[in-house]
Amino acid sequence: MEKIILTGDRPTGNLHIGHFVGSIANRLRLQKDGNFDKFYIMIADTQALTDNADNVDKVKNNIIQVAIDYLSAGIDPNKVTIFIQSQVPQLAEMTMYFMNLVTLSRLNRNPTVKDEIKLRGFASSIPVGFMCYPISQAADILAFGSTIVPVGDDQLPMIEQTREIARTFNNTYGEVFALPQPLLPDNKACTRLVGTDGGLKMSKSAGNCIFLKDESEVVKQKIMNAYTDPNHIKVSDPGRVEGNVVFSYLDAFCQKEHFARFLPEYESLDALKNHYRQGGLGDVKIKLFLNNILQEILQPIRERRKELEKNVDKIYEMLFENGKKASQAAAETLEKMKEAMGLNYSKFLSKK
Ligand code: ATP
Ligand code: MG
Repeated sequence: MEKIILTGDRPTGNLHIGHFVGSIANRLRLQKDGNFDKFYIMIADTQALTDNADNVDKVKNNIIQVAIDYLSAGIDPNKVTIFIQSQVPQLAEMTMYFMNLVTLSRLNRNPTVKDEIKLRGFASSIPVGFMCYPISQAADILAFGSTIVPVGDDQLPMIEQTREIARTFNNTYGEVFALPQPLLPDNKACTRLVGTDGGLKMSKSAGNCIFLKDESEVVKQKIMNAYTDPNHIKVSDPGRVEGNVVFSYLDAFCQKEHFARFLPEYESLDALKNHYRQGGLGDVKIKLFLNNILQEILQPIRERRKELEKNVDKIYEMLFENGKKASQAAAETLEKMKEAMGLNYSKFLSKK
């Protein structure tokens, strides 16, 4: 079986460090391994419009931002096909056929959609397009015959839904789709990075992000204001590590060698956590340690971004060219789908 990777992001803002550990790091690893037949990354503008219908400019302007974030994080456009979702109209047609294979009650049970409805404050005014985005996401994944989908864990219900749709389609009309597998980060701390406010998930829509493009002083400020343990007031107070944003980020980003470089009086994260729990270790010290680690990771990304920003035309050209390639690949799948469904009307013509 071919190894086809597809993943993507909504152009609702710049990419943040949650994306970096949750999905980009795996993409970079797969890209480096080179062990794949095709590798697509989709900028999901159509999906972003499902909860931003009145803010098309935001979605439109963030397409290039997300593309620059990819390239500055190290995604290589010679190895990976980066494209814009709306430039592949076949995805919309596939979504229509898939909609008939999913019940409303199944959509209502999707836990990520439920969380997002709360976060976006939709109450009872949920756009139908938003409710159905798991179906359109299934089309995105299945259109390219994807077998591996690198994601954070909020996307697991979407992959499950995609597998169900693929199975239902295959059972109803005949075998067309392979069942895709999610690929989560190995480090559990990276599957759903919390926001700087201690909220459930760092998310562009929640305003609790450290962005890859943030200038170094901004990163430092956000770390200094991050949620820790509200009962850890004096340095001597015992502190809580669980639910403490700084330790969550250290779990995700800290490597053993960071201690030798930035905090040689401790030999491991466990030793640092134990001291914090006992009391005698202040928030400023752990925050400055985290700041050193994140600055080291983000600085080269920021520098590459500044270079890339000088030639956005070239990036748009790359996206538009790839849109055509992606559209061709999706058209082939759509053809197979319609053949399996018996929607091959051209047969009537050839009889004449
Ligand atoms: P939005 O608020 O617009 O939904 P988002 O910040 O959730 O934006 P998406 O574009 O929806 O970002 O997600 C893109 C990918 O990044 C998905 O695979 C998702 O699982 C992953 N991801 C997003 N946020 C995090 C996070 N905080 N931790 C780990 N992975 C994340
Ligand atoms: Mg999201």
